[in-house]
Amino acid sequence: MPADDTDKNAAPPLPEPLRVPVADSHTHLDMQSGTVEEALAKAASVGVTTVVQVGCDLKGSRWAAETAAAYDAVHATVALHPNEAPRIVHGDPDGWSRQGARQPGGDAALDEALAEIDRLAALPQVKGVGETGLDHFRTGEDGKEAQERSFRAHIEIAKRHGKTLVIHDRDAHADVLRVLKEEGAPERTVFHCYSGDAEMAEICAAAGYYMSFAGNVTFKNAQNLRDALAVAPLELVLVETDAPFLTPVPYRGRPNAPYLVPVTVRAMAAVRGVDEDTLATALGANTARAFGY
Ligand SMILES: [Zn+2]
Ligand SMILES: [Zn+2]
Repeated sequence: MPADDTDKNAAPPLPEPLRVPVADSHTHLDMQSGTVEEALAKAASVGVTTVVQVGCDLKGSRWAAETAAAYDAVHATVALHPNEAPRIVHGDPDGWSRQGARQPGGDAALDEALAEIDRLAALPQVKGVGETGLDHFRTGEDGKEAQERSFRAHIEIAKRHGKTLVIHDRDAHADVLRVLKEEGAPERTVFHCYSGDAEMAEICAAAGYYMSFAGNVTFKNAQNLRDALAVAPLELVLVETDAPFLTPVPYRGRPNAPYLVPVTVRAMAAVRGVDEDTLATALGANTARAFGY
């Protein structure tokens, strides 16, 4: 049966191109269907000319570094995801792939994995360390200690290499802000898939943290995100897909990819009360500044 707009598994149609190019500040090409070439060509055809490919485990981080070395339009970040660190310590066989990590886990396995992240972070095409942070939604009490230890180690790695820190914060706002303060945040820190409210946006603004908005800013129940976007300083706002997740309305539930960034950009422009060219100009410059490319 041919795919059409009513097919829930079909890729959404190409949006109208942006006139001013932007970057997808956070994507997972390795979790999307199709080749890297196809994804980049499709994105570029609608004005999304740069992507930041984010690693979540050792295999994904190595892949991100290799892909960024091969394509000018791709920059990499490397990390053990906040939900990956406890899996390594616990030697969970159902965890994400982690070739190179010693089984059956323990603190030594986490240290070994962090040492590999450290090596990858030194590469010139690797612009950031992340996604790291805290996730109190998927990781329970038994994984909290490993998660926080891993987060602190990633902050240290980012600072030592002068790379951007990419934060994953799920249901953990206060603890993420606390650890950043205790460790001292790197010069450039990005809250990916920003999920705080307007009050937290003020705190991030005061600290100079970038806030990257994903497709969920378009969701009906996400007024708190739109309120945050409305008060965030324009020079600290980024856009991302976090694809294949968080597809923006009206394609919610269908596969997400970098070429859908214009849908989110237009929704964000409406929230800010600015025209899309003005917003796109800011987003393009902000992402380049945030990741130092
Ligand atoms: Zn995340
Ligand atoms: Zn992500």
